[in-house]
Amino acid sequence: MNLILLGAPGAGKGTQAEVICDKLQIPAISTGNILREAVKNGTELGIKAKGYMESGALVPDEVVIGILKDRIAGDDCKNGFILDGFPRTVPQAEALEKMGVVIDKVIEIFVPDEKIEQRLSGRRVCEACGASYHVDYKPSKVDGVCDKCGGKTVQRKDDQPETIKERLRVYHEQTAPLKDYYAKRGKLTVVEGQEEVADTTKLTLKAIEA
Ligand code: AMP
Repeated sequence: MNLILLGAPGAGKGTQAEVICDKLQIPAISTGNILREAVKNGTELGIKAKGYMESGALVPDEVVIGILKDRIAGDDCKNGFILDGFPRTVPQAEALEKMGVVIDKVIEIFVPDEKIEQRLSGRRVCEACGASYHVDYKPSKVDGVCDKCGGKTVQRKDDQPETIKERLRVYHEQTAPLKDYYAKRGKLTVVEGQEEVADTTKLTLKAIEA
């Protein structure tokens, strides 16, 4: 099964992707994680992407499409995959179609902007494994230390208030049109993001199984 998780940055796509990936035994692919890894390792891709990411802009389509194409060619994607953070523009969605990828379902996790701002400004992520926390809603057991791997938890540069505003603006301008794009193709289901992650997961799984 090929799935897309759509939604504003911080709506909880990554968390849902992890759960579904365990449940369906298919990989979750986050272009954001691939790009952050490249930035961390100072690769050519990372050097290209860093400025865009830190300012809250999107990395150019041709760069991200290339990354995605290589990643889904992997052996582990043979039985399907979950896309988290791709596509983010209509040309990216069209590129998927051109690659011959058939998308079974698109789940939009909907969270209002005010909530997104609260969530992202308190978000902390593990530098080592990428696990996600929130200072108020989901703190790590020891402040600054990842529960899963003991790595250091930090605030992402793009989770600063001004950058959050820019990411939301970019989301509404460039990514939100994908809702219509997939609704027209009969693929879209909207799930309202709940206070409790487990409640959102129930709704997400129900939407996938429907
Ligand atoms: P994310 O972790 O999904 O919020 O992604 C972090 C940042 O990586 C975004 O704000 C963009 O700068 C970049 N990025 C991730 N995925 C894409 C994509 N599909 N298209 C363009 N830029 C992307």
